[in-house]
Amino acid sequence: MSVLVTGGAGYIGSVTTDALLRSGETPVVIDNLVYGHREAVHSDVPFYEGDIGDKELVGKILSEHKIDACMHFSAYAYVGESVEDPKKYFANNVVQTVRLLDVLLEHNIKYFVFSSTCATYGEPQYVPIDEAHPQQPTNPYGWSKLMVEQILRSYDTAYGLRFAALRYFNASGATDTHGEDHEPETHLIPLVLYNALGRIPNISIFGTDYPTPDGTAIRDYIHVSDLADAHILALNHLRNGGTSDAFNLGNGSGYSVQEVIDAARRVTGREINAVRSPRRAGDPSRLVANAEKARAILGWQPKISDIEAIIETAWKWHTRMTD
Ligand code: UDP
Repeated sequence: MSVLVTGGAGYIGSVTTDALLRSGETPVVIDNLVYGHREAVHSDVPFYEGDIGDKELVGKILSEHKIDACMHFSAYAYVGESVEDPKKYFANNVVQTVRLLDVLLEHNIKYFVFSSTCATYGEPQYVPIDEAHPQQPTNPYGWSKLMVEQILRSYDTAYGLRFAALRYFNASGATDTHGEDHEPETHLIPLVLYNALGRIPNISIFGTDYPTPDGTAIRDYIHVSDLADAHILALNHLRNGGTSDAFNLGNGSGYSVQEVIDAARRVTGREINAVRSPRRAGDPSRLVANAEKARAILGWQPKISDIEAIIETAWKWHTRMTD
């Protein structure tokens, strides 16, 4: 059976599409290329350019391929933009997803793996954060993802749609062929590496007065290929009769912004010009996953957990891209 991958031309979607291919699956990609890159989709994979809310197109794809599952990556994911222009986020991340689900249900597709986020938790009440932590997002992006989680719960009860909501912490790193290439880029690791490459004059450290050992914010960085593995395990869990559930995907260890910059100095051997700057609005001080549930139920075991090893993969990819 084939797997429909929405957003398969994006960062995590393209890495997972390759992982699906390697594990003997036959992925089919739909992506509107607003943020995705056509060349990121393996040439063996059927590709459809268009919106996931285009019911005619999705219906056509489902008629042309024997599909039993959907991995849903496509979404807008800029937290700051979601605060300034929430209607864009609810229209795309929620309304378009409802339209996609309508067509999947019409075609009796029963398995759905959803790209959710630790942003659904909001300001942490305790760390590490487990799946039972209250979900109170602090921005429309997080709300849009939480709304879809709730829709999936209702659809499971009413229509028997089995889902896994995968709550990513900080996706990072690269494979030999795919890396992080957002336009605009707002994420810490690629920006630090752009600075090492001389593409930007400096990197701002957003907040140096957090209640953390060095005053900078702590995040849980998880390698994109480990995320891809978790999607395949989640798909198999559902296909094997597993119940719908939410899973945190993180390493369970936190690194501060300062530690990431120091690690990048060691990996690249280059100077990094970091400028102490005010906090970015809405940034919690510390987000670290308790991902025991994914380990216990899915058998997930992240392979690249050291921050230097993660940055190393990203550095290789960025230097190759600029050669
Ligand atoms: N950050 C930073 N400077 C930047 C970009 C990010 O100091 O130019 C910090 C950000 O405030 C957060 C961490 O790096 O504490 C990770 O941010 P990123 O945007 O990569 O991911 P997020 O945690 O927001 O999903």
